[in-house]
Amino acid sequence: MEPPIKTFTILLLLLSSLGAVSVTHYKPTHFCFRQEGTVLEALRSFQLQGRPMLLTVHPETLKTRVLRENDIHRVPCPADSRYHRLLRAASAPPHPLQNDGITHAQNGLYLTTDLCPSSKKGFEQRLYEALIDRFPHPVPVTLFITKRWIDKHPNAFAQFKSWKEKGDLAITWGNHTAWHHYHPGKPMRENFVLSPEENLTEDVLTLEKSLLEHGVTPSIFFRFPGLVSDRRSVETVTRLGLITIGSNAWLAKGQRPRPGSIILVHGNGNEPKGVDLFLKMLQKGEIPQLYPLSGILKEKHK
Ligand SMILES: [Zn+2]
Repeated sequence: MEPPIKTFTILLLLLSSLGAVSVTHYKPTHFCFRQEGTVLEALRSFQLQGRPMLLTVHPETLKTRVLRENDIHRVPCPADSRYHRLLRAASAPPHPLQNDGITHAQNGLYLTTDLCPSSKKGFEQRLYEALIDRFPHPVPVTLFITKRWIDKHPNAFAQFKSWKEKGDLAITWGNHTAWHHYHPGKPMRENFVLSPEENLTEDVLTLEKSLLEHGVTPSIFFRFPGLVSDRRSVETVTRLGLITIGSNAWLAKGQRPRPGSIILVHGNGNEPKGVDLFLKMLQKGEIPQLYPLSGILKEKHK
C-alpha cells in the first residue's frame, strides 16, 4: 500500500530539510496526461527516493508540479496553449547575441533577481525584506538561481525557502544553469554558455535536480548567464521545454522600467547599484505592484 500523497509530501519536506532527498534517473520526457480534470504536460521523469515521479507544467497557468507517476492516463497534448505560444515567442528569430527571449510583457512589472555564483558571503537581504514590507503577501518575485550559488550560500537559500513557506514571498524558481561558466575578458561569442566546455543540457538539468533535492519545484523559466546565447543554445533550452527570459530593464545598466518591463537586479550582492535604484523607486512609489512571471502574456496584460 502506497502512502497517501499528503503523507509522502510531508516526508519529502522533512527529508529535503535534512538535505537527504535522492533524485536519480533525471531525464527530459514529453507527454500529456489527465489529472483531476485538467491536462498536464510531463517535462521530466525521475526517481525520488526510488519512486517514479514527473515534473509537470499546466499549459495554461504555467505552474509546475511534481507528481507521482502512477495510474497515468495519457492523452494527446493540446495543439495550442499559453505555454506553447510562450515557447514559440521566446524561441523565434532573430537571435541576438545578448538578451534573446522574452524581454517584456504588455503591462505590469515583473521583478527578476539573479543569483549567479558569487564569493560574497551574504546576499541582498535588504531587497527581499523591502518587498515583504511594501507589498501584500505573498510578494511575487523570480529568482534565477545557480547550483554554485546554492552550494556556497546554504543559509541564504534556507531563508528564501522559509520566506516562501511562511507565505511572505511567492517565489518562481528560475533556472540560471548549474555552473554559470564565465571567463573574464573573453569575448561574448566564447563566453558564458558559448564557452567551449559548456554542456548546456546537463547544465540546465543539473540545476533542476539540485532544486528538487532541496524540496523545491523548478519553474519553466530560464535565463541565460550574462544574457548571452545563440540560435543553437536557445533551441536547446526550448527543446527542454523552458522559456527564455531576457530583460528590458537591467537597472544597473541604466535601463528604466516602463509598463510591461521584466526588471533585472542581482540578488547575490554583486551589483548593489541595481538594488539601490530599485529600492529608491520603491520608496518613491514608482513600483505600484509586482506580477509573477507566470502572468506574462495573460489576457489582462495585453
Ligand atoms: Zn548570472
